[in-house]
Amino acid sequence: MENIKCLILGAGPAGYTAAIYAGRAGLQPVVCEGLQPGGLLTMTTEVENFPGYPDGVQGPDMMEDMRRQAERFGADIRPRIATKVDFSSTPRTVTFDDNTQATFTTLIIATGAGAKYLGLSDEEKYRGMGVSACATCDGFFYRKKTVAVVGGGDTACEEATYLAGLAAQVYLIVRKPFLRASKAMQDRVFANEKIKVLFETNVTGLFGENGVEGAHLVHKKGTADEHTSDIAIDGFFLAIGHKPNSDIFVGQLPLDEAGYIKTHAGTPLTDLPGIFAAGDVADPHYKQAITAAASGCKAAIEAERYIASLAD
Ligand code: NDP
Repeated sequence: MENIKCLILGAGPAGYTAAIYAGRAGLQPVVCEGLQPGGLLTMTTEVENFPGYPDGVQGPDMMEDMRRQAERFGADIRPRIATKVDFSSTPRTVTFDDNTQATFTTLIIATGAGAKYLGLSDEEKYRGMGVSACATCDGFFYRKKTVAVVGGGDTACEEATYLAGLAAQVYLIVRKPFLRASKAMQDRVFANEKIKVLFETNVTGLFGENGVEGAHLVHKKGTADEHTSDIAIDGFFLAIGHKPNSDIFVGQLPLDEAGYIKTHAGTPLTDLPGIFAAGDVADPHYKQAITAAASGCKAAIEAERYIASLAD
């Protein structure tokens, strides 16, 4: 069985930054790209808040740059998904989707997070037929059509604004009477006449013959003014946050109640020596590309220290 000195799971800003640092430190990192090479930033458009890009940068371009930078320092990037881990036996193992297994000296978990869904059976029914969690991936199909975006955070506002550039009309469906998004994002939404914000509104279902044709809504739920309505839409976009990609670590590492890997405060250290967690999979608070990159850097430095300590 292959033993990998520094195994990195995930190829977003955390994984690639860990690979750059580990590569430069001579740890011969192996990066398993996982389900979404490049991570969530490959699904975004312009990134304006990553230092070093005064004019902004397209998310996919930034990730391609990070990948090339990691390769420059010898990172071995493989198109593999980790399907199982066993940290209880010695040596500790990771199993991949091609049924191979590897042991490792250090492991950096940077598997990120994935989009959350409301949990309606109609989301499953219409997946790929009008339901999406990525406006930049699927917005193109809704040119001059009507779409709805669910959520009131920065992602929802960003997606609604992006879709308004393509679609004829965008409903932004917000369960609270206010948006949680930053002021700048809110201003953009309110200034866009194609976006209609429906506050205090929840979606109870979708309908349509051969794809999404509309949504069932309930307004002011639980109040004396509660009432329902239907809207006609062609596309339904979820933007209600993300869930950490930590399922394979259940029972193997301590996770919090939302599934984030628990790390020692301000560090990527987990309870298991030699195993580190970086980026969104361990970050319920900041979830930024720059904070993910920073924690990937810390994880690689800790991996280097751990390997050095084994030689002492
Ligand atoms: P957030 O957690 O910030 O917001 C999620 C939104 O979805 C909230 O409005 C929440 O409502 C709503 N929501 C959650 N569950 C449901 C549900 N079951 N039904 C209806 N609505 C629901 O997630 P984001 O993805 O928007 O942002 C994550 C982080 O990334 C934030 O820190 C954000 O600032 C950052 N970000 C920054 C960007 C930028 O700076 N360019 C762009 C995108 C994200 P409620 O308010 O009621 O809880």
